[in-house]
Amino acid sequence: MFDALLLTKTDDGTTRAAVTALDPSALPEGEVRVDVAFSTVNYKDALAITGKSPVVRKFPMVPGIDFAGTVAESSDARYKKGDPVLLNGWGVGEAHWGGLAQQARVKADWLVAIPPGFDARQTMAIGTAGYTAMLCVMALQQHGLTPASGPVLVTGANGGVGTIAIALLARLGFEVHASTGRTAEAAHLQRLGAREIIDRATLGEPGKPLQKERWAGAVDSVGSHTLANVCASLRYGGTVAACGLAQGMDFPASVAPFILRGVTLAGVDSVQAPQARRVEAWRRLAAELPRDLLDANTQTLGLGAVAELAPRLLAGQVRGRVVVDVR
Ligand code: NDP
Repeated sequence: MFDALLLTKTDDGTTRAAVTALDPSALPEGEVRVDVAFSTVNYKDALAITGKSPVVRKFPMVPGIDFAGTVAESSDARYKKGDPVLLNGWGVGEAHWGGLAQQARVKADWLVAIPPGFDARQTMAIGTAGYTAMLCVMALQQHGLTPASGPVLVTGANGGVGTIAIALLARLGFEVHASTGRTAEAAHLQRLGAREIIDRATLGEPGKPLQKERWAGAVDSVGSHTLANVCASLRYGGTVAACGLAQGMDFPASVAPFILRGVTLAGVDSVQAPQARRVEAWRRLAAELPRDLLDANTQTLGLGAVAELAPRLLAGQVRGRVVVDVR
């Protein structure tokens, strides 16, 4: 038997989350069974666990869009027992049992070998949030952004995507501005590499279609009015990598920044990202992300504490990243 956080739907339609002992024969189909060591709690996991949004596509479900551990058995030639592996996305924790468990069985195509220089815990201190932050950085660079272009804004700065994006951009030499609702955490954001702290209230309300040109680029994990104001405040030819909806899914903007300033809105998706892009993102994370900042940005919990944490994460009360030690 193994322990998992199991989500069930109650008669009144609410989602119930409880640590439950399961038989390995109940695991879904897949070529590789993994002994999971660490998982994480991302924004999407918190939505699934609280039932706040229809993330889970069938019940009962083991949530957890990420995991890291070692291969227990494999019928795929690419993996053998003992190999260190990680997984992000692919609908795991949404439609296929996920990582908040001591065991998982998944398709071999979904796995990534843990890059040299990282252990399993460190990869989960990054998790989908941090890997998405790297996808955002890669998108900005593909659109020609360099430190010489000008300052870069990160919204949702104290969140998982935001904190890792700040650390990565600062390490690359960018002047990073951080937008946050928690200015009391300014010292932490500065330690990660932020040069300027902006109160998110100044970006969160409806604004003019074109505003003063401030940033050459941005990583936005917030959406809604914030993303609209960021587009309106980008310098000529600037790019925003948009990956999130912490403020809202809406995008109440005008085309003015795109047609008058040549601004680019670059969408970033981590869930279905092709394997080559994932491997490149993880290679770069291993090479570029300072390990001491990662440790200072992470808290570690057991499986039993996850259900209580989820609503606090959605309320924006959790700083940085959360690793779950499932062992
Ligand atoms: P977190 O909860 O860790 O961080 C979100 C941050 O957004 C909060 O810490 C807070 O930062 C800010 N925030 C919260 N509520 C609001 C609000 N009402 N208005 C403005 N800002 C707000 O989540 P993650 O970093 O894990 O994820 C961030 C977003 O990115 C989520 O929407 C998530 O779904 C999305 N995402 C998308 C992915 C993709 O593949 N496209 C992959 C990963 C994440 P502060 O307190 O500093 O203001």
